Amino acid sequence: MNTESGRTSLLEWDRKRWKCWLHEQEASPAHATTLIQQIHRYGSLEPERMVALPLRLRHRLEHSFRATLPEIAHLRHARDGTCKCTLRLSCGQFIEMVLIPSAARTTLCISSQAGCALGCTFCHTARGGLHRNLSIDEIVAQLWLARHRLWPESAISNVVFMGMGEPLANLDAVLGTLRLFQDDHAYGLGCRRITVSTAGLVPGIERLGHSAEVSLAVSLHAPDDALRTELMPINTRYPIEKLLQACVRYAQRGLRRRRTVTIEYALLAGINDAESHAQMLARRLQGLPVKVNLIPFNPFPGSDYMPSAPEVHQNFFEALNGAGVVTTTRRARGQDIAAACGQLAGESVLREVFETQRSPLMALQGAG
Ligand code: SF4
Repeated sequence: MNTESGRTSLLEWDRKRWKCWLHEQEASPAHATTLIQQIHRYGSLEPERMVALPLRLRHRLEHSFRATLPEIAHLRHARDGTCKCTLRLSCGQFIEMVLIPSAARTTLCISSQAGCALGCTFCHTARGGLHRNLSIDEIVAQLWLARHRLWPESAISNVVFMGMGEPLANLDAVLGTLRLFQDDHAYGLGCRRITVSTAGLVPGIERLGHSAEVSLAVSLHAPDDALRTELMPINTRYPIEKLLQACVRYAQRGLRRRRTVTIEYALLAGINDAESHAQMLARRLQGLPVKVNLIPFNPFPGSDYMPSAPEVHQNFFEALNGAGVVTTTRRARGQDIAAACGQLAGESVLREVFETQRSPLMALQGAG
């Protein structure tokens, strides 16, 4: 729980927690629905305006909770409609979120940690290491700001935990966030509209499978352990076979036993994009309840890797599909503003961006 200034954020609690508090206040538990609606559905963080609540309760809310939000530090719009927003947390750390509109849906990509400890060698966020986990209210605030402040006109239909950080390394806060995202009176996002993406923390996959109904994406990026360990050090703890077994269990669990796990595979030129890699990957995934999403790699300054050539990408795609593995290609979005997968920067880079702006307000004004 984030209790900055000794007060809990209004964005922190789910319905069950509000009911407990209302019970302590000797107030009706029915007010929990009103509170959830006011705060999350209607975007009100001013208790005095919540006129559907008794005056006494509004005063208690005013004095016991805080309504502070991360500061909008920087906003950039790409030519393809993608928008990247940098937020400054109360501790001074920066995080990022990205709005990705498309014909079929509008997706918000959010962060779960400031930085990341997992050290994937192709990832920009990894360069700065982990600063800290985000609290529930800091994760929820990203969707709240997107819906009620930044992009109220763009009906956000999907949320993906693919921003900065490893969500399963901050699972308590992510589960608390999911309870609010999925509450019909808050954001009402169904299980197919939320995707949690992981580098492959097996115990986290197991716990997520038991605790929530959401889609799962797993970053694989290599068909064998030697190469995957090179790209993703976490593979030494959770090698591919164990990880795929966890994916199968995840897919077989859940209310409708219908979950297909998405395997993310970023194509890196000369590293993991040979036909032999595609064949090995197809053999490993044969018969499993998974589909593969091929990601064109987005290089960043100082990156050791380059994207595969389009014809290499196409050959890899055809090799997998030809072997019977359902495969799609993710369209690169927001490349001109470094908003694509793996490009969300660490604190040092963000500080540099931030300090080139004369003020956050100017950054916001200049973004349109
Ligand atoms: S790819 Fe994801 S898990 Fe790996 S270092 Fe980057 S943010 Fe962390």
